[in-house]
Amino acid sequence: MGISRRNFLSAAVTTGVGAAFMKRIPQIFPHTNAKEAAVSGIKLTYRRYELKLRHVFTISRSSKTVTPVIFADVTADGITGTGESSPNARYHEDASTVTAFLDRIDLSRYDDPFEREDILDYVAGIAPENTSAKAAVDIALHDWAGKKLGVPLYKLWGLDRNKVPVTSFTIAIDTPKVMQDKIREAEEYPIYKIKVGLDNDAEIMKAVREVTKKTLRVDANEGWKTKEVALERIKMLQDNGVEFIEQPMPAAQLSDIAWLKERVGIPIMADESVLSLYDIPKIAEAFDGINIKLMKSTGIREAMRMIHTARAFKMKIMLGCMIESSVGISAAAHLSPLVDYTDLDGNLLITNDPYTGLTLKDGRVIPGDGPGLGVVPREG
Ligand code: MG
Repeated sequence: MGISRRNFLSAAVTTGVGAAFMKRIPQIFPHTNAKEAAVSGIKLTYRRYELKLRHVFTISRSSKTVTPVIFADVTADGITGTGESSPNARYHEDASTVTAFLDRIDLSRYDDPFEREDILDYVAGIAPENTSAKAAVDIALHDWAGKKLGVPLYKLWGLDRNKVPVTSFTIAIDTPKVMQDKIREAEEYPIYKIKVGLDNDAEIMKAVREVTKKTLRVDANEGWKTKEVALERIKMLQDNGVEFIEQPMPAAQLSDIAWLKERVGIPIMADESVLSLYDIPKIAEAFDGINIKLMKSTGIREAMRMIHTARAFKMKIMLGCMIESSVGISAAAHLSPLVDYTDLDGNLLITNDPYTGLTLKDGRVIPGDGPGLGVVPREG
């Protein structure tokens, strides 16, 4: 019995030897779910890649040093658009759920990637959730369209790329001393996002303020479990001049968050409480703003809808990210002139970004001027 290339590569990604093989030459033998014999139609392939973090990345619920991403390539008419999935366990995804979902997609039934609305409706309908897997396809289709038209995405959308907001740079949880060192090391960033939500929040804030007077935003990642504790901590943050607090309590405790909003003097932003368009009306009373991430929203199309909907509720809008390469961050950067705040530091937290194209200028993450996402594979 012979083994097809597709089956061999499926086996390769799940075995140690195979994984090393895939790592070495992912560009040469990309995994493909398109029928080998297909001569027309859109082709979808994907590649797995491991992003290495500069520091151990700890938030209130998890800690990691590497994180897998999956690059999806959509090819038609001799042009390839690239997207990225950075799966997050909080949203029930990992690398294997992403590749399993991508395997279920058959784009050979479509000939024209410009039919993005229909294609993405089809992808959305395959199964619920799988938001970052869907985002990879969405981003790849947008990149393809920009490349086909020869324009960067921000121009396609009528935006001025110099109007991107200043990004925050994330300081993950560590000992107060190490957090101070990370802040000193990140001197070029004008705004820090401090991760809290464990027991030593006051100690962390005291240490942070000892080394910087810059604007601080704070993310508790659902870490505070009672509204009384959350209220006490937010008052402490207010006293330290924090600009806003992100997701103080678990997403399910919406009425507690609404209670908090009545009692604190800084904006409360939703992150884990808001994934897609349909969440916005449900949470609008409890929060002052939302943090949109392409990996939660299923990509650019849904993020656009969310931006306009949130404006209708007079909510503030932040555009955030997971740990992502320049592919995912560029997709968000092109959109970012439409929002109030950005937290687009995913590619700045890693040491082996396989793509380039973004520029960091005066704390702003500026998208490239090349067609589509404006990114290219890094040399070597
Ligand atoms: Mg957050």
